[in-house]
Amino acid sequence: MGKLTSSSLGYPRIGANREWKKALEAFWAGKLEEAAFLEELKAIRLHHLQKQQEKGIDLIPVGDFSFYDHILDTASMLGLVPARFGYEGGIVPVSTYYAMARGNKEASACEMTKWFNTNYHYIVPELNGLSPVLTQNRPLEAYREAKQELGIEGKPVLVGLFTFLKLSKGYEPAQLDELIGQYLPLYEQIVRELAQEGVQWVQIDEPILVTSLEPEDVQRIRRIYEALHAVAPELNMMLQTYFESVESYEEIVRLPVQGVGLDFAHGAKRNLEAIEKHGFPEDKVLGAGVIDGRNIWRADLSASLDLLNRLSAAVPFERMIVQPSSSLLHVPVTTAPETALDPVLSAALAYADEKLDEVVLLARAIREGADAVQAELDASVQAVAALNASASRSNVKVREAAANIESQPSTRHSAFAERRVRQQERFRLPFLPTTTIGSFPQTPEVRSARQKWRKGEWNDSQYEAFVKNEIRTWMDLQEEIGLDVLVHGEFERTDMVEFFGEKLAGFAFTKNGWVQSYGSRCVKPPVIYGDVAFIEPMTVKESVYAQSLTAKPVKGMLTGPVTILNWSFVRNDISREQVAYQIALALREEVEALEAAGIEMIQVDEPAIREGLPLKQSETEYYLDWAVLAFRLSTSTVKDTTQIHTHMCYCEFHDMIESIRALDADVISIETSRSHGELIHSFEEFTYDKGIGLGVYDIHSPRVPEVGEMVSMINRALEVLDPSLFWINPDCGLKTRGLTETVASLRHMTEATRQVREER
Ligand code: GLN
Ligand code: ZN
Repeated sequence: MGKLTSSSLGYPRIGANREWKKALEAFWAGKLEEAAFLEELKAIRLHHLQKQQEKGIDLIPVGDFSFYDHILDTASMLGLVPARFGYEGGIVPVSTYYAMARGNKEASACEMTKWFNTNYHYIVPELNGLSPVLTQNRPLEAYREAKQELGIEGKPVLVGLFTFLKLSKGYEPAQLDELIGQYLPLYEQIVRELAQEGVQWVQIDEPILVTSLEPEDVQRIRRIYEALHAVAPELNMMLQTYFESVESYEEIVRLPVQGVGLDFAHGAKRNLEAIEKHGFPEDKVLGAGVIDGRNIWRADLSASLDLLNRLSAAVPFERMIVQPSSSLLHVPVTTAPETALDPVLSAALAYADEKLDEVVLLARAIREGADAVQAELDASVQAVAALNASASRSNVKVREAAANIESQPSTRHSAFAERRVRQQERFRLPFLPTTTIGSFPQTPEVRSARQKWRKGEWNDSQYEAFVKNEIRTWMDLQEEIGLDVLVHGEFERTDMVEFFGEKLAGFAFTKNGWVQSYGSRCVKPPVIYGDVAFIEPMTVKESVYAQSLTAKPVKGMLTGPVTILNWSFVRNDISREQVAYQIALALREEVEALEAAGIEMIQVDEPAIREGLPLKQSETEYYLDWAVLAFRLSTSTVKDTTQIHTHMCYCEFHDMIESIRALDADVISIETSRSHGELIHSFEEFTYDKGIGLGVYDIHSPRVPEVGEMVSMINRALEVLDPSLFWINPDCGLKTRGLTETVASLRHMTEATRQVREER
């Protein structure tokens, strides 16, 4: 191969028209036979390889394709099936594989969790003393398939052993070395067989190396790669890291591997500094991840070229591979269908296919000289410049306010102790007030009404009348159930971010911007491309209408700035922190509009604060500080008597309790029911001295909980929390639940509350 090879680390599975998702769902629904399903998936897989080949990528990843998730694939390959699935050895059957992912009648699904700091979720392997067996050599099979079917000399992708074990559960940290000893022979067999087959490069993904490591971890990594190198010295192993700068750079680049892949889009500065300071070993290839694999923006290719040239001072191009910074799994497939967007915006987008074009172009620029591709380079520079220069990105008022953020109010007028007294005088709520988290069931009728309106079959007033009717029905129901603080029900919202994005300046909605979130579930995040600004009230009408129907307080319902940020594709010309402040200031106007319209309780949901946590511990404090500030900017200007609520969807918050306190919300509700015990336990360690509701039942299940169960949950919580500050609520919004079960559960909840009130 000539100078500077091009490569990729992984391609989206879902397909340009989400055909992968559709095939999975048809198979699960029994509408597609297994054989036909396997054929269909093979066709999709080969098509994706072919596309990469046609683009001119030299080293095409194979084996990154999955039937659900690559960590689940790895666990299956190693025969790691928990006993409850009744697995009898051999290649894991498709039905067992999906049972692990999704659960079945006999066994509950394996846990699912976030893949590093992305919105992708993987299935957590349960080791629990299982003996691993190599049931199939997946990377090898993928390699053979690509070669036989398409003549592609692929680069098999393998999840590294260290990352795999670190992401698994069912063992004590002290057992890690023993586990490495147990699993290594299987990995040795995989790489030995790859070497025997004549594979040239294998990509071994070890993203865990960018997280904060323990000192012994470096020794463990060394042990693994020495062993793998010993059995397959002729195989080129690319130790691939991504999502951040690598920890322990000097040790990592000295491992007995032939290549090290680094991310030069995230943590770029540190990776670059490390290379320039310590150099790069002369016997290794550098995987230079210069095209951002996580964002949807076109690169300024002249800047990328400068970066490559700068790297070439430490590593000659003959030993460099240009590639995206990570797998392209985290970006949509192609911008081709994005014709409805503002042309300045659509010209500045790059999804997976366009990013591969960028990689190839950079390789050509080095091989043939920049002159050969000057027109393309200029076009990329111009597209980025045009978007930067567009009016949408220069809202002077927004810029100035966000830039001088210290001068914006971010503290309530009085401290909580004082607000609490005034609010109690104002609302006269009973002991253990009851409420819900915001949404009520989005029934098929609600969804079809929205469809009719979106398609133009219904005009605005027909749709509004429908929504009003839903609100009225549920206001009556809430009164009848006996809840103390009511909500309007969020019937007008599809999604808690999209709804606000559609009403704020600076957001755009793509046609094809789908990415895999977990399994077949795809999400289409809004695009924050311009300065975010408030245009007109977004939620006032519905809240005011609801309030007009009751003498009880109605909680206004907003999505918080950090959640809106973390669930969107965000512009990359200014910092995320600045964007968060812009959203916060826009939301503040909504909070003030609600208050002015007589809404005296306002909930600002932040279920996604945790999702933005940086991968490196050294950076979490800075992130949490600005995230908290953003929340406070949107909620601090209200009167003492206006009660600010917030809601979070998780219970692991022991590491962020300070930040949760610092939000200074009058009331917080936290999702807890699935690990109630654990959470309650944490309150034995720290005190929490503002209003708090720990969900008293799990809304993720259709089961209607018994009154007695909730009574004991409440009593247990009251042992560790101040009863006078405790709220009773379900643990999350009810939009995914059915109507009957919701009403029944809420009735049980108010009955449980009545019993506890009476006992006390
Ligand atoms: N208010 C939102 C709802 O009830 C909160 C959703 C969430 O926490 N994800 O649906
Ligand atoms: Zn929630």
